[in-house]
Amino acid sequence: AGWWSHVTPAPRDPILGVTEAFLADTHPSKVNVGVGAYRNDKGKPVVLQCVREAERRIAGSKFMEYLPMGGSVKFTEFAIRLAYGDEADVLNDKRVASVQTLSGTGACRLFADFQKRFKPESLVYIPIPTWSNHHNIWRDARVESRLFRYYDPATKGLDFSGLMEDVKNAPSGSFFLLHACAHNPTGVDPSEEQWKEISQLFKEKGHFPLFDMAYQGFASGDTEKDGQAIRIFMNDGHQIACGQSFAKNMGLYGQRVGCLSVICSTPQESVAVKSQLQQIARPMYSNPPLHGAEIVSTILSDPELKDLWHKEVKEMADRIISMREALRFNLEKLGSKLNWQHVTDQIGMFCYSGLTEEQVDRLTREFHVYLTRNGRISMAGVTTGNVEYLANAVHEVSK
Ligand code: PLP
Repeated sequence: AGWWSHVTPAPRDPILGVTEAFLADTHPSKVNVGVGAYRNDKGKPVVLQCVREAERRIAGSKFMEYLPMGGSVKFTEFAIRLAYGDEADVLNDKRVASVQTLSGTGACRLFADFQKRFKPESLVYIPIPTWSNHHNIWRDARVESRLFRYYDPATKGLDFSGLMEDVKNAPSGSFFLLHACAHNPTGVDPSEEQWKEISQLFKEKGHFPLFDMAYQGFASGDTEKDGQAIRIFMNDGHQIACGQSFAKNMGLYGQRVGCLSVICSTPQESVAVKSQLQQIARPMYSNPPLHGAEIVSTILSDPELKDLWHKEVKEMADRIISMREALRFNLEKLGSKLNWQHVTDQIGMFCYSGLTEEQVDRLTREFHVYLTRNGRISMAGVTTGNVEYLANAVHEVSK
């Protein structure tokens, strides 16, 4: 027998498997609303102008050396200013430990490993539902996870009372994974008032908030507004941690550029925490890649490029919002008896349609429309060219 004959194939990733199936389909009208990557109105991937300009400026750079273990300090400094706000006290006080990570996934995983190492008995509470990879991340970091209520299928909105009850009933000092904005897969975020109440209850319970912020700017089109949950918790004095990704908001998916930051109680604590985060990174990948960090820090450190970026993020967010309106409009025009208000109420890249697994299977089989079986529609894959076709298909399977 071979060395690896006992190895059986791993289950297919629920999200990446959808793309594979889409690519294998030869039907001319096929639609991919599976993967969470932005597409323009022609269905094509987009490279932002600000990214092109940043690349032009760094082209020919003589610097191809290793970054430090914690990545580019210029990059992390600008990244945390984006997350916490230029004027944040925690930044002035030098109380934020930050390291460059392998995008948002790497930020979550580094934090999970850090949690396991320094709070070995702690639990993590994960929302129902969530981005499927969150479960894998904490499982592989060997942190015991529990679930908390988040989404209410009846209203297709937030289950606020369920959430508050679960936060209240969790053992004091638990870790909670929160999506900072544009919750994936539901597109449902707490309101400002609700965030304030959640933050207060976290204070009473002594829970730890970890924010996964994969979509800053992508929800409302405004990076400041999308940072609101972070700011509320920070101003309430929580020592939050935050994972940032520049995959979606700068279209840098394959560059794998992200940041993990942890608010500490003193500058000394932040130096120690940063050194330990680096220590976890070292035996895994030594140090993170250079190019994406250079692009991001070039954009964020130049007022003109930053303005251009803000304009381009808003364009992406606005296109998605207009496709939500078009999808709902077409469903209503077709005479659907169902209520599709949630399509326009939800925000960010995804619409949690409420379609059942059977209906999703029919969409794929009969209409060549590809999405995950939980009924999540990536609005980024919807265009003026396919929205009527998509609406019709959704209407047919949901009659
Ligand atoms: N967190 C959430 C909620 C996401 O939706 C995603 C991407 O789909 C990520 C993290 C990680 O993305 P990346 O590792 O590409 O930055």
